[in-house]
Amino acid sequence: MSSPKPEKPSTAAMPVPPPLRNDCFALPAGVHWTPVDEALDLLRERLHPVCGVETIDLSQALGRVLAEDVIAARSNPPRANSAIDGYGFAGPAGEGVQVMPLLDGRAAAGGDFSGAVPKGHALRILTGAALPEGVDTVVLEEDVTVQAGHIAFHGPLKQRANARRAGEDVEAGDVILQEGRHVTPADLALLAAVGIGALAVRTSLRVGVLSTGDELAEPGIDAGAGHIYDANRPMLLALLERMGHSPVDLGKVGDNRDLLRAALDSGATRVDAILTSGGASAGDEDHVSALLGEAGAMQKWRIAVKPGRPLALGLWDGKPVFGLPGNPVAAMVCTLIFARPALALLAGMGWVEPQGFEVPAAFEKRKKQGRREYLRARVRDGQVEPFASEGSGRISGLSWAEGLVELPDGALHVRPGDPVRYIPWAGFGI
Ligand code: AMP
Ligand code: MG
Repeated sequence: MSSPKPEKPSTAAMPVPPPLRNDCFALPAGVHWTPVDEALDLLRERLHPVCGVETIDLSQALGRVLAEDVIAARSNPPRANSAIDGYGFAGPAGEGVQVMPLLDGRAAAGGDFSGAVPKGHALRILTGAALPEGVDTVVLEEDVTVQAGHIAFHGPLKQRANARRAGEDVEAGDVILQEGRHVTPADLALLAAVGIGALAVRTSLRVGVLSTGDELAEPGIDAGAGHIYDANRPMLLALLERMGHSPVDLGKVGDNRDLLRAALDSGATRVDAILTSGGASAGDEDHVSALLGEAGAMQKWRIAVKPGRPLALGLWDGKPVFGLPGNPVAAMVCTLIFARPALALLAGMGWVEPQGFEVPAAFEKRKKQGRREYLRARVRDGQVEPFASEGSGRISGLSWAEGLVELPDGALHVRPGDPVRYIPWAGFGI
């Protein structure tokens, strides 16, 4: 991690740097590095929804967050109906050949049959038609011969065969979806089916993204030799979009405290939360952490996670700021592991856990006790393979990967074939 850099001494006085040690990346002894789970527990305890509530039409609800439990206005199906095209009667039907007089008329979906069907009689009925009075069982049309005003088929047939019970899917008054739910396409079908035309949802969480660093140039322009392109901003904006928030591009600022202060001031008036990248450590040019520190609401998070650097978390004009590492790999991992659940809480989605599963490893790796590790990875032929390099500057590895392998905090020796936890991007909701 960065520590405050000393004033540069003159060349003559410069001490010869000691050689790097093999354990130069080992965690400092005696320093408390917070385990990932402890950090997450803190977020979970302390954050709450900051978004308002609005009522919207069902047609606008995809991807929105439910502000309250949704109760079925009516049952699905609302009435008992036929699951097939066939002939309805009062079941059960006994063994052997069954012959029944066929009534005139038919029951079709949307067109009720007004009469009752006397016991021992049958009526033509189509899929989805409400069962007329006297009908609780339906025989498949392919199993029936119709002749001289009668139907005949081979029994037996159980009572209620091929019939759907009223409310067998959902009963009126049931809670069908819970507060905090992110509405999916299937949810729209369920909501519509039980008669919900409008619903209370959270206003979208507006999340600003601000890149920091003198070295950053805008993609598409001819950058000078001392510049790199701002890779974090498009990535973070897209991650937020996928997570269901409203991303707001706050641009980039150089390593200049006044400009950064102005950007945070103006950003805080436009958004509910801010993700910054870069400048979050404690070096000379780490202005995000310095400014948040000045504002008096900064926490330096030294979390036992790889890849990751200290995160600067704080409030700016009351808006939470997540000061992410500049390194794109660390920025993405820290966003998925820490910012995602935090933002979900702010957005009223409740706590979200990454959904992973165990897959046999296609690799061997030893890790030391002390920090959780995330490897860019993907599954091929039923085995999970990591990206060839763990270098945290390798953006190509993020793009190559289809998810992350999560290795637990303790020491571990993974051998090929050992089960490891793999979290596909979809398991992070992206
Ligand atoms: P910092 O956290 O500011 O010390 O930056 C760590 C590393 O990430 C440096 O190599 C930066 O040049 C790089 N970096 C910072 N911001 C970005 C960005 N927006 N896109 C790509 N690389 C970045
Ligand atoms: Mg920087």
